[in-house]
Amino acid sequence: MVWLLAAVLGLCLGSFLNVVIVRLPVMLMLGWRAEAREALELPEEASPRFNLLVPRSICPQCETPIAWHDNLPVIGWFKRRGRCAACEARISPQYPLVELAGACLALAVVALYGVSWQGLFVFGACLALLALAVIDLRTQLLPDVVTLPLLWAGLLYQLLFQPLLLPSAVIGAMAGYLALWSVYWLFKLITGKEGMGYGDFKLLAALGAWLGWQSLPMVLILSAGVGAIVGVAIQLALPRMRGAPMPFGPFLASAGWIALLVGEPLMAVYVGMTL
Ligand SMILES: [Zn+2]
Repeated sequence: MVWLLAAVLGLCLGSFLNVVIVRLPVMLMLGWRAEAREALELPEEASPRFNLLVPRSICPQCETPIAWHDNLPVIGWFKRRGRCAACEARISPQYPLVELAGACLALAVVALYGVSWQGLFVFGACLALLALAVIDLRTQLLPDVVTLPLLWAGLLYQLLFQPLLLPSAVIGAMAGYLALWSVYWLFKLITGKEGMGYGDFKLLAALGAWLGWQSLPMVLILSAGVGAIVGVAIQLALPRMRGAPMPFGPFLASAGWIALLVGEPLMAVYVGMTL
């Protein structure tokens, strides 16, 4: 029963994450545009209300509102075979995949933490990482409105559940930011190019808060490892993608899930290997 509830909750929250993933970058863009117009003293643009709740979901192609029974997590997408009910336009497989990922994360958290406040915090962090990974893939953005609260929540998590680890978390947040900031400037001074964005620094700072500074080398090795494997696979499978910029956020997020969910046994192996 608990498993079923967790899976359904994961699916529904995954469905909500899809809305955040698609709309948050647009909301930020509209905000920046309005600010820029204000700074340039241009008249305000009249724009319809656009936030996470308004307007309701429509097909991006024909703008037909999506019926609630076609909007059910995973089932709706498969029922229509990934197409719009009205115009047959393809609907991205991102929707069922994010929903399934939400369910898998919910089940993993229940398996590892049971039904507990601690588990709820970890689940929240896993969902935030999922949203960040997909937003970064789609738009090359890691919005501050997600990365910074994730950092504060990590510090609160340590304060509430493992206060003895709080110093390690504070150092982790600072070291995480500093580590990628240094790599960024070193890379920029040597090659003149920008290898990543400030969002990546904030994301690693957040992971440092959740995991403590001791886990940062593992997180970096994992994300660089996964990134290298995926990068080579993409180059082999899609040669035309060679040289295309690859966001680093999804790899940091994957490393974050691994470290949050199976970090302790992994750390034991890692320490065993280095000794
Ligand atoms: Zn349509």
